[in-house]
Amino acid sequence: MKVDVYSHFDHIRPLAMKGKNILSNIQALCATCHQAKTREDRVRIKKWKKKQGPLADFGIKPIRPPKFKF
Ligand SMILES: [Zn+2]
Repeated sequence: MKVDVYSHFDHIRPLAMKGKNILSNIQALCATCHQAKTREDRVRIKKWKKKQGPLADFGIKPIRPPKFKF
């Protein structure tokens, strides 16, 4: 990790996972770290999208059954 003027800006929570484009969600990474993070993000995004359900792209959330207390 070497942060200098050539550093990359990275979204800590990817925009694809509804991460916000705000300063607190942005970190500086060197090119090497950014590449590694992007690889990890791709896996995270894939898992996250699966959890959101196949209709998430249309703004439809999966219906979860109500929780019952016994
Ligand atoms: Zn680095």
